[in-house]
Amino acid sequence: MKSQAVKGTHDVLPEEQPAWRRLLSAAEQVLERAGARPLTTPVFEYSEVFEKSVGESADLIVQKEMYTFEDRGGRSLTLRPEFTAGVLRAFIEHGMHTLPTPVKLWSAGPLFRAENVQRGRYRQFHQINLEILGLSQALADAEAVQLMYATLRACGLDRVHMRVGSVGDPEDRAAYNAYLRAELEPVQQRLSETSRERLRLNPMRVLDSKSEEDQALLAPLERPIDFLGEAARAHLDQVLAFLRDWGVPFEIDPGIVRGLDYYRRTAFEAHYQGIGAQSALGGGGRYDGLVENLGGPPMPGVGWAMGVERVLDAMAQEALAAAADEAPELFLVPLDDAAIAEVAALAVRLRRSRRVEHAYVRRNPGKGLRDADRSGATFAGLRGEAERRKDVLQLKHMASGEQTEVPVSDLEGFLDARA
Ligand code: AMP
Repeated sequence: MKSQAVKGTHDVLPEEQPAWRRLLSAAEQVLERAGARPLTTPVFEYSEVFEKSVGESADLIVQKEMYTFEDRGGRSLTLRPEFTAGVLRAFIEHGMHTLPTPVKLWSAGPLFRAENVQRGRYRQFHQINLEILGLSQALADAEAVQLMYATLRACGLDRVHMRVGSVGDPEDRAAYNAYLRAELEPVQQRLSETSRERLRLNPMRVLDSKSEEDQALLAPLERPIDFLGEAARAHLDQVLAFLRDWGVPFEIDPGIVRGLDYYRRTAFEAHYQGIGAQSALGGGGRYDGLVENLGGPPMPGVGWAMGVERVLDAMAQEALAAAADEAPELFLVPLDDAAIAEVAALAVRLRRSRRVEHAYVRRNPGKGLRDADRSGATFAGLRGEAERRKDVLQLKHMASGEQTEVPVSDLEGFLDARA
């Protein structure tokens, strides 16, 4: 067996971690300031949780992408392909539906989909997810869009634009789906295989096709936004008015659709030019009826998910992956055997409040200073026979070369004063 990560999965290397942290802390700050509370759910659930959430027409395209397996007790389990179903399962299980509304929950972690791998499309990837539960007003949809935008801005991304549309109420959706079927069934032999399957199960999803021939067939056709009933139209207008008022840049996307059929009304995406064909950083929408599908009371919701890998790709384009602050403050060098244990003990003590590394074998001063230099440390601290007698360290400031003898008992004060 080759020592290689599974296709479509990847390691997050130490040098990639600062950008990850920046994104996570941006999300935490932006979302928690808006009243969202963090929720962590298991990476696998009983398969029914996801099967119920994909809706009656059970979008086979989603099901085929799921990693489903039997545990030893013969129960069917699925690695989560999305957050919403598990979050709502937890929401109901822990009685959060009895809390005063709205309830806002955010989550972050890995997801699993058996996808065709390409740039921006992996089999294990990560998302940051937000759900706002219990509000049916357009204000909640607008807040969700604004929070996605604000999170991306807080990562330093400037070139983000939001696209907002609406899939309408269930009857609008049904009318549009019927229209698409009527238009496309006669020419379905010219559609890609995926689109043919979508036409059968969830026609609106044909609009998401990446195939140029499919798009050519779709070009003259109407979009979901043209089929909105009065209520859905008024709802969308209100969402857009809030966004204008708050200065969130957006464009109306008449053809925006969401994959699963529990979505209603508002659908939105965040896009970024310059990360290839998969330019969507995130997407979301309103889902009324999903909480009920999963065994809870009727409760409206609106939520979104953003793809961590794609946001990181965009951050890399803008050179926002700030350099890691990985260098130790102090690098300790034992100049004789007895000093090895001494510097190790000192490091253990100092690490309560600062970053300290040391050599693990006896070093002569020249080699020891080279080690310190390579670690990027601000100071090197040398300890040998002479230093032991006075219980001091020879502290060398690496940048200036300036050397000071510092008693071990004064070391922390000295470092604090120089910080
Ligand atoms: P979705 O859950 O399909 O609505 O996707 C929300 C966001 O997650 C997308 O806009 C992408 O940024 C990201 N995403 C979805 N699928 C993948 C994948 N297979 N690999 C990487 N990112 C993904």
